[in-house]
Amino acid sequence: MRKLLLLLLWLGWSCGPSVAQEPAAPVCRTCTSTGLVPCSKHAKLLPREQPTADCLQCSVATECKACAGALAVDCKQCEHPGAAGELQRRQELARQWLDERRQKIDALTKREPFLHLRSTNFDVVSALKAATVGKDKVDPHVRLHLFAERLEALRVLFLQTFELPPTDLRERHLVCLSDEAKDHAVLGPQLTGMGTANSVGLKLMGPQYVYSMWQDRRSLPDDEAVHRNVVHHVTHLLLSEMPPGLFLGNKKLGWIDEGVAHWFEDKVVGKCTNFCFEEVLLLAGAGFQGGKWRPAVRKLVDEGKAPTFASVAVRNTDELTFVEHAFAFAYVDFLLTAHGGAKFRDLVRLCKRDQPLREALHSVYGWSVLSFDEVFLTWVKANYSALPAR
Ligand SMILES: [Zn+2]
Ligand SMILES: [Zn+2]
Ligand SMILES: [Zn+2]
Ligand SMILES: [Zn+2]
Repeated sequence: MRKLLLLLLWLGWSCGPSVAQEPAAPVCRTCTSTGLVPCSKHAKLLPREQPTADCLQCSVATECKACAGALAVDCKQCEHPGAAGELQRRQELARQWLDERRQKIDALTKREPFLHLRSTNFDVVSALKAATVGKDKVDPHVRLHLFAERLEALRVLFLQTFELPPTDLRERHLVCLSDEAKDHAVLGPQLTGMGTANSVGLKLMGPQYVYSMWQDRRSLPDDEAVHRNVVHHVTHLLLSEMPPGLFLGNKKLGWIDEGVAHWFEDKVVGKCTNFCFEEVLLLAGAGFQGGKWRPAVRKLVDEGKAPTFASVAVRNTDELTFVEHAFAFAYVDFLLTAHGGAKFRDLVRLCKRDQPLREALHSVYGWSVLSFDEVFLTWVKANYSALPAR
């Protein structure tokens, strides 16, 4: 031990500097010699304006009078040759991005109520008003960030749930959150190329991915309801994008399409309150069992009123009844909970490749359409309570 110590001492001695070094230039304590100091106008929000928080550009930051989107200003305490150029570069990027957003989105409605955020994977457009979230009052700008962060989190959860590599979801998704019907009535049809001015939400499910909605307060009274709505509908986009890209809802596989969207709604925001019916068929605020579907499904199973899988698994999304929506959710819950996301992913892939459901079901799970009911009903009885969870 003592020898080792001596050896280390000797090594240290012999490798040490033999000539005195040039004195280093003094480090600027204000900017650690980068020439840039964080812009003070963003206060607590500054960390959420950064790429580390999935924020690549924000329209409010771009319009900051002090930094014009650079999120930093020139250090007054030192001279740094690269600082001005770097600030200018960041400001130009931000300005070009925002000009393009204004032309592509705001120009359609001919007014500018919108805030914009470019996150890692989403383009978020929001005219949502201030709202109470939990116990906090959040202003429209913070709410914009919140939705971008929620969308990025949903994408991560989706990838994890189905054990997909991130490269399976590589398209950017455009999500427009209007406060007023008149804005969605213009943006929805123009950006998705479909639907009528009377809709609450419109989706384009490939090869571009767009969701546009407005906050109809009769069915979406608060922030939580809007969050659940966005989770439901953007899940449809992610499921459609999941390779091979295809919308399953009109291929007699509405139970997968709606079941997965409901499952994420429940997983992220605790209940299921959104339905993809033809808009005219659904009265604002219509729902099923307060959105708590596990006890409702258990009750129907106990009463012998469960629909058969064979009868549900031939419907398109817009043909499902309320009860069938609840069972589509429960089928997906059963498959994901009891048999894992990877198998379900394989089932979806086979269905998207046009394999008939009965063949896909057999090759992934070894069941027939008829034997599905038996394993499913047994599982429901073992896992769902008829009493609502407290
Ligand atoms: Zn400095
Ligand atoms: Zn911002
Ligand atoms: Zn600033
Ligand atoms: Zn849906």
